[in-house]
Amino acid sequence: MVKVSEGKPEPNPNKGLPTWTLQDFEIGKPLGKGKFGKVYLAREKKSKYIVALKVIFKQQLEKYRLHHQLLREIEIQSSLNHPNVLRIFGWFHDKDHFILILEYAARGELYKELRKSKHLSEKHAATYILSLTKALAYCHEKHVIHRDIKPENLLLDLEGRLKIADFGWSVQSRTKRHTMCGTLDYLAPEMVENKAHDYTVDNWTLGILCYEFLYGVPPFETESQTNTFKRIIKVDLSFPSTPRVSAEAKDLISKLLVKDALKRLSLQKILEHPWIVKNADPSGVCSGGVSQI
Ligand code: AMP
Repeated sequence: MVKVSEGKPEPNPNKGLPTWTLQDFEIGKPLGKGKFGKVYLAREKKSKYIVALKVIFKQQLEKYRLHHQLLREIEIQSSLNHPNVLRIFGWFHDKDHFILILEYAARGELYKELRKSKHLSEKHAATYILSLTKALAYCHEKHVIHRDIKPENLLLDLEGRLKIADFGWSVQSRTKRHTMCGTLDYLAPEMVENKAHDYTVDNWTLGILCYEFLYGVPPFETESQTNTFKRIIKVDLSFPSTPRVSAEAKDLISKLLVKDALKRLSLQKILEHPWIVKNADPSGVCSGGVSQI
């Protein structure tokens, strides 16, 4: 049994050896369903610490040959400790399942709040972009590129603090990558064109998200994949007249959605951008749900 200190289950110190079992937890309500299994609210019996248990079916993983990807996800996420990155406290497996012990994000997916409210206020959008930028700066320092940042992979804790989850597509790398991955609307042009890419793909995605937070839809969305590809490659960016969005926000988006990866605004410059400085709450807390402008 893994040590429990300060009420929190500790990351598995045995580098992959399972030390937890389902008997260590009281299982509560289902929190959601993913591609490969279900997520449940749970309480560790000894510490009473509330967590989310992600239960993944081995059979499904085998079918898609994704064992390695899961292990990579666990390894990367376990090595990260930042207030805006969802913690993974440990993992174990039984005959049929892999079970990940995750930090509980009480308000669930940011995506759901965005869909409910259609678009976010500039204050909330800037606060989320600031949190994301800080989290990505931390990840990049540790040579981790996320590559699959999208609203579905962003969770909110009880106070509305953003947590990056789902490191399934991330890579730990000091060199340029060639694999094409991620979700179409959020892909940087160099990924669409299957070229080498690096950390700056996450900066592009920040521009996409900032646009989506403020307008409710990603900027290059079309009815077909082919047309979205074309719009991304051309950086066919336009700003609708409604909802009304400030010139400063548009300036930040335009400086992130730049085809030449070297010319994209750096994470440090995002932190200093006037729109962020004016609108973002540095505590990262977005209380009272998501409001409309
Ligand atoms: P996933 O399998 O990671 O796609 O998760 C499926 C759903 O479970 C998500 O859409 C969330 O609504 C919910 N969920 C996943 N992880 C957590 C968590 N750590 N805390 C709260 N809800 C979660």
